[in-house]
Parts: sequence; structure tokens; C-alpha cells
Amino acid sequence: MFSGDFLTGTALLAAGRLALERGEFIPYYQAQYNHSTGMITGAEALVRWLHPEKGLISPAAFLPEFEENGFISEIDLAVFEQVCAFVRKCLDGKLAVVPISVNISRKDIFVPDFIAKLEALREKYGLSTRYLRLELTESAAQGSVEQVIAFIDELHTLGYVVEMDDFGSGFSSLNVLKDVNFDIIKLDLRFLSGNLSGGRGGTIVSSVIRMCQWLGLPVIAEGVEDVRQADFMRSIGCDYIQGFLYARPEPEEEFIRRLSGGVIGTVVPQLSLIETLDAGAFWSPESQETLIFSNYVGGACIFEYTNGRVEILRVNEKYLAEMGMNMSEKEVIAMDLFSVLDEKNLPVYRNMLERAIETGEEQECETWRSIMSQCCGEERICVRSTVRLIGKSPVSTLFYAMIRNITAEKNRFSDMLDTERRFKAASEQVNIYFWEYTVATHEMRPCFRCMRDLGLPALVTNYPDTAIEMGIFPPEVADMYRDWHRQIEQGAESLEAVIPLTVGRVPFRVRYTTEFDELGKPVKAYGSAALVINEE
Ligand code: C2E
Ligand code: MG
Ligand code: MG
Repeated sequence: MFSGDFLTGTALLAAGRLALERGEFIPYYQAQYNHSTGMITGAEALVRWLHPEKGLISPAAFLPEFEENGFISEIDLAVFEQVCAFVRKCLDGKLAVVPISVNISRKDIFVPDFIAKLEALREKYGLSTRYLRLELTESAAQGSVEQVIAFIDELHTLGYVVEMDDFGSGFSSLNVLKDVNFDIIKLDLRFLSGNLSGGRGGTIVSSVIRMCQWLGLPVIAEGVEDVRQADFMRSIGCDYIQGFLYARPEPEEEFIRRLSGGVIGTVVPQLSLIETLDAGAFWSPESQETLIFSNYVGGACIFEYTNGRVEILRVNEKYLAEMGMNMSEKEVIAMDLFSVLDEKNLPVYRNMLERAIETGEEQECETWRSIMSQCCGEERICVRSTVRLIGKSPVSTLFYAMIRNITAEKNRFSDMLDTERRFKAASEQVNIYFWEYTVATHEMRPCFRCMRDLGLPALVTNYPDTAIEMGIFPPEVADMYRDWHRQIEQGAESLEAVIPLTVGRVPFRVRYTTEFDELGKPVKAYGSAALVINEE
């Protein structure tokens, strides 16, 4: 196929006009395949100039100039008409049909009534829009986003599927994806040099695929030339392939033969977010969803769970604060969550995720993690995570997690357990009963022996009345004992008396020692009761 310069300027334009009249611009068809099923899912119409002397001329030799002078729009309409005629022929001849994508130049957007002209052609052949897709290059969306959005909206109203061609070739790819309502993304591997699996290109490709998946957008990989590339694309969740590996652009008759020998399938979005989430809004930095996420009072993150591995995609500010490790968002996202969990904690976390996937309900767990930070070195923290499944794709699941750093709580609890153990050991040793009285709340926490011998609960409210009513204190000392607690409230440092306790009225030396806060206010009083017999 000829692809050099053969004419330029007005000579090229004149030749082009003549060629258009003579029907020398014809579409070739390049089939698109589902690499997992081997089915043909569609095709792209690619223009060729069938020159009487030069033979087949590649679009690279004439399209850039026709794009400059606007003649391209006439070629696009000519190609569109021939594609309509082709689909009509297939339908009438009961041949297999797949949707055909037609390329639309950025110039077409500014041609008045361009869509009306497409529509007139489509009606002429009595076709549904479901057989026709339109491809716009990403660069078409640059500079005039509002007009592109309006153009695509109008096509959507008419039922067309609109594809973004050559995604990744421009500079503003991600913004375009967010702002413009494309239905299918075409990612051209030829724009990404180097080794796919493992290389930098591979990382970019998988991130793009993942982002598109979470937006519910199918991706067609273009320029796939060998099976390794196709397998890599499949491994990251992109099944749709257009490239020399499966088929080259070919004339209509060959394409018809391919269709009749192949199995036909369709392109479907590969992921579904739960109904309550709007995928577009979910990722947009300005959306309500994002606002709620960012301002959520607790730490929150969104992560993806793939083949037993977790990758954090987004964290809010509070997440970083909760982790308390002076880590940046970048450091947190780069951190492999599973590497900070040891063999005891890892299964706990994994089980929670599996439960959440299985039940679709919120699940919770507590895990200890060893976190390294540049400033503080390694630290053990305990995190309570509550997770909820928010999306599913064939290869992975998306989770929303709320996290709370409960290290301090946990440490306090274990300190308390230690104290309790000491408390228990001491009381067993010396035959003494201990308790702790909280002045502000009138609550009493008894020692293990009090609980065992006197049948007290772990927390006694409305003390000392409860103990008096239970008969632990005899009625004749009741008033005195109540008065002790008033004295404690007023600042008595210690109190002591021998009191006959329990139904047996056994004499005990009862002592109180008060603890004060830094302002001198009584906070707690520690009570003990020792058998008087033991003393004598
Ligand atoms: P495109 O729309 O991105 O089309 C894909 C191009 O990649 C085609 O080049 C196709 O032949 C080529 N290709 C597909 N698979 C492979 C592969 O595995 N390896 C390699 N090396 N190349 C592959 P083609 O046909 O030369 O078209 C070039 C560009 O010209 C198109 O890129 C499109 O932007 C433009 N074009 C083609 N036909 C039309 C048309 O009717 N209207 C407009 N406006 N533009 C068109
Ligand atoms: Mg294209
Ligand atoms: Mg392309």
C-alpha cells in the first residue's frame, strides 16, 4: 500500500474531489475479537484510496492534509454511506452482522448539520443505530470540550455508541475521560513503547484498564500484534482486541468471508458498581460522593482486591491521620497492605474480605500491622477495618473501607488486663477484698474475689446503696457507710473502720484511700476489706 507523498496542496485537493466523485475512497474492514471467546465483536472501517495508477493509498498519505483543509468531512460521509450500504447488504442477504465503527474527524464536529447528514444516510438504508458506531479521536475533545460534549450528546440521543479512539495518545487523556461521555475506549498499544508485562507501559495500561472498568467502560485494545500482548491484556481484564494478531484491514468481500466463518459476540461493560453508586460521580473530584468521601469524619479508603492482593486506590485525609505515621498519600497508596500484615493477621483480613464478597454485607475485623515510616521507623498499630463491597469485575472486586486506629485503646485494655491480673493475684494472696469507687458516677468495680464470694457484677452502679440493699453491709452501719462516700466527695483522704460484713457479720477492717486529680478534685477511692481475724 502506498503511503508516501504523492501530491500536495491544491493538486491533492483537486485529485481528491475527482476521486470522491469516482468512488475511489473505499472502506477496508478490520475485525475486532474477544480474545477470551474468539468471537468477532465488531469491526472498524478504515478508508483507502483506490488510485487508478498508484493502487491502494494509505490514509497517512492524504488524510492529514484533507483534515487541514476540511475535505475530510466529505470523505467521512462517503465512508459512512458505504458502511451503511454494506450493513444493509448483510442484513438483506441474511449474512452475519456486527457493529461497524466509522472514524469521525474533529473537523466534522464543526460542520453544520453533520449529524443530520449522517442521519439522512442512515435512514436512506433503513438502519438501526445499533449497527453503527462512531469513533472520535481523543484529540478531538481537546480545546473545545463543550462542543464535543454537545456533539456526543446528540449522537447518544439518536442511539449511537461513541468510541474514544487512540486513548493515551494525547496529553489530557484522564480529563477527557472524566468530562466526555464516551461509551467505549480504544487504547492503542502502539503508543506505549516497551515491554508490556512488567514494564512501565504495562503499569500504565493496567491502570487505564482498571480505571475504565470502574467507570463501566469497555476497552478495545488496538495495535495488538502478538499473542503475548493479547494474553497480557486479558490478564488485566481487557478482552477486546483489534490488531494484526487476529485480522488486518481487509476489503469487504474478505471481511464477509471472515464473518460467515466466525462466531459473533458483543462488547459488554465488564464491571458493575452497586446500584446506589454512580460510577462517573464516584471518581470525579468535584462530585458529592467525593465530597462525602473526603470529608468523612473517619479514615476511609477505596481499594481493589485482585487475586488475593489488595491495592489502595484512594484515601481521604483522615485516613493518613488515623494511621498517624506521617505518611503521604503517595506512600500509603504505594504500600502493599498485605505486606504489613503478618501470618497471624493476614488470614483475619482476607477472611473478612471473602465474607464481604460472599454476603454482600458490611464486615469488620481488627488487625495488627507493622508500619514503617521515614520519620519514626517501624511501629505496631492495631486497626479496626469495616469494609463494604462496592463493585465487581470479572477479575477483581472494589471495596470501601472505614478504618480506625485503635492501638491506644488496645494497649489500655491490655494494661487493664495486666492490672486486673495483679489485682486478682494480690487478693488471692492476702485474703483481702479490693474495689474501686468512681466519685463522679457512683460506680464500683469489685475485685475478682468480691465477684466470686459476694456475687457482685463486674460493674456495680449506684454504690454504696446497691451493696447495702444486697445486705453486704448491715443496716446499722448503712448510714455511716453512705456518709463515707459523701466525705470522699468532699475530699477526705482516707477512711477506716471495722465493719461486720455479709450475712455472717464477719468483722472486716474496711479502708478507703482517695485519689485526686491535678486540681485536687477527688476522682477515685480505692477500698479494701481485710478479715480482722487475720490481723490479730
Ligand atoms: P485508527 O482509527 O486508530 O485506526 C487504526 C489504525 O491502526 C489503522 O491504520 C490500522 O490499520 C492500524 N492497525 C490496526 N491494528 C494494527 C496492528 O496490529 N499493528 C499495526 N502496526 N497497525 C495496526 P490506517 O488504516 O492506516 O489508519 C490510520 C488512521 O487514519 C486511523 O487510525 C484513523 O485515525 C484515520 N482514518 C482511517 N480511516 C478514516 C476515515 O474514514 N475517516 C477519518 N476521519 N479518519 C480515518
Ligand atoms: Mg479509529
Ligand atoms: Mg485508533
